[in-house]
Amino acid sequence: ERTPVVTVDGPSGAGKGTICHLLAQKLGFHLLDSGAIYRVLALASIHHDVELDNEEAISLLAAHLDVQFLAGNENDNIKVVLEGEDVTRDIRTQECSDAASKIAAFPRVREALLRRQRAFEAEPGLIADGRDMGTVVFPEAPVKIFLTASAEERAERRYNQLQDKGFDVKIDRLLAEIIERDERDMNRLVAPLKPADDALVVDTTGINIEGVLDIVITHIEKNL
Ligand code: C5P
Repeated sequence: ERTPVVTVDGPSGAGKGTICHLLAQKLGFHLLDSGAIYRVLALASIHHDVELDNEEAISLLAAHLDVQFLAGNENDNIKVVLEGEDVTRDIRTQECSDAASKIAAFPRVREALLRRQRAFEAEPGLIADGRDMGTVVFPEAPVKIFLTASAEERAERRYNQLQDKGFDVKIDRLLAEIIERDERDMNRLVAPLKPADDALVVDTTGINIEGVLDIVITHIEKNL
């Protein structure tokens, strides 16, 4: 008997975070926000004055990263604690997004984080949110989903989300940053962002959260 794992991959702002939270809640499954791990590692690198092009030092940091993900009481948020400090907000800045996608391109960094991500697999099941969940981290997962949407719509969603959280952002800059980050994530040599061969690809442009959730739940119920 294998643990049911549902992988949800896709570019930034495709709605993965929201959908994954709702899925985990609805199914009573654990949740892996793998992007948060890359973000925390990026923040740790910055805190420890490690240059973002130093693959060796960052992969060493990755192997020893002292991070905890605590189930928050707010329905939407998992508390992220790095070396005893609450960094839940700090990892969401644009600086951190950018740094995360830079260090995520290093093969040894990805390798060092593999086991940490796989450790999230536990009964009664796992929703795994990321870029390479279905292709690399959980290739045997029985259900794989790839969420996407036009870059403009993703920038708009991110904008609304960040505004709600009280971040002051400019939509033009957000769009440029999203496009740049996607390019880097899709074109890197290891674990590039792409749908697994057996993934259901859902273009969510123009579909609201309830609509996307319907499509995804139907697919999960059929395949899990
Ligand atoms: O999903 P999120 O925007 O939080 O991810 C931040 C960055 O971490 C992504 O742009 C990507 O470069 C990297 N990442 C990754 N593989 C994952 C999750 C995130 O390379 N599974």
